[in-house]
Amino acid sequence: MSDCPFCKIVRGEIPATIVARTDDALAFSDLNPQAPTHVLVIPTRHAENLGDFVRIATPHEVGAFFGLAATIGRQAGGDGPEARGYRIVANEGRDGGQTVAHLHVHVLAGRRLGWPPG
Ligand code: 5GP
Ligand code: ZN
Repeated sequence: MSDCPFCKIVRGEIPATIVARTDDALAFSDLNPQAPTHVLVIPTRHAENLGDFVRIATPHEVGAFFGLAATIGRQAGGDGPEARGYRIVANEGRDGGQTVAHLHVHVLAGRRLGWPPG
């Protein structure tokens, strides 16, 4: 999408701190971090939200998206029995608090996260 900010990051038209990139997914640091690690993971193919994405994406693209989110989470929060852990969040729509209409998950780690979320 030509005017979508996250598609612009995929195309390199606006700068971002890229954390990881695969053919079908991209991870970059959030501009306004809410935890010591706050990375956004997006599918490179534009979809507004998870429901739209799973309708149009191939199983490979879905796996690339969630696989990259899990990889980033384990890098930040650890792996194995001593891992501190991490949280993955997808905000959708007005009540969910979504502000960018390109599917993304937040990967948050590095501090104890409260529950329930606000
Ligand atoms: P949402 O509120 O839609 O769940 O999350 C959007 C996130 O994108 C916010 O945490 C916001 O800080 C981040 N964000 C918005 N625009 C940009 C941008 O241009 N670059 C980066 N790196 N993050 C952005
Ligand atoms: Zn987009």
